[in-house]
Amino acid sequence: MINIAIDGPAGAGKSTIAKAISRIIGIIYLDTGAMYRTVALKAIRTGVDTRDGERLAALVKDIDIKIEYKDNEQRIFLDGDEVTESIRTPDVSIGASNVAVIPAVRMKMVELQREIARSSDVVMDGRDIGTYVLPDANFKFFLTASLDERAKRRYDEMISRGMPDVDYEEVKRDIAFRDKNDSSRAFAPLSKAPDALMIDTTGIEPQEVLRIILDKIENNETDGADK
Ligand code: C5P
Repeated sequence: MINIAIDGPAGAGKSTIAKAISRIIGIIYLDTGAMYRTVALKAIRTGVDTRDGERLAALVKDIDIKIEYKDNEQRIFLDGDEVTESIRTPDVSIGASNVAVIPAVRMKMVELQREIARSSDVVMDGRDIGTYVLPDANFKFFLTASLDERAKRRYDEMISRGMPDVDYEEVKRDIAFRDKNDSSRAFAPLSKAPDALMIDTTGIEPQEVLRIILDKIENNETDGADK
């Protein structure tokens, strides 16, 4: 079984790289952020405060999240309805960062993630994959980039999705909030695993980042000496 872990903050390029790896080496890609986003969407839709630990613990107990792949693209379903696009709004981004602090939510998501990694070769991206979800992953990478560049990438992505009323400063503020929230939580915070290779993608084209990563995988270099 091949398990590849890619962690890092929002906008560091994780999903672009993970999708390319999945296509090139023919394994599935699991975007774990989409799972936390789906929990947040359910909370928002049912009027539950995304910081209410007690109600969130009850909400995830029997939550029905399903993941399917169509043309190698991950589709995510909540209670039978596809929510792949509806989880990409700013409200859901902040909500996801809030629900991700709650241990009961993380335990439930991690259980689903480990189940997938046990049964399939997978490249998984998130915040705690190398440190907590898959500590024994064959390869671990930690991508990062300056806050300005990450905000610019996320802003461009939202514009290209045709989202209305996107404001760059607001996107940047939301990312800074999530960086802080994700790094400071007590349980499984955003952090680099000691054996992950750190790549700062600021000013680097995705093709170049991909080349560095594929090189490591092809040469079976599992030790993460910082780049
Ligand atoms: O990756 P994405 O931006 O879609 O993730 C949304 C939020 O979900 C993150 O800000 C983070 O709080 C949370 N998350 C997490 N652990 C993961 C993946 C995402 O806490 N493995």
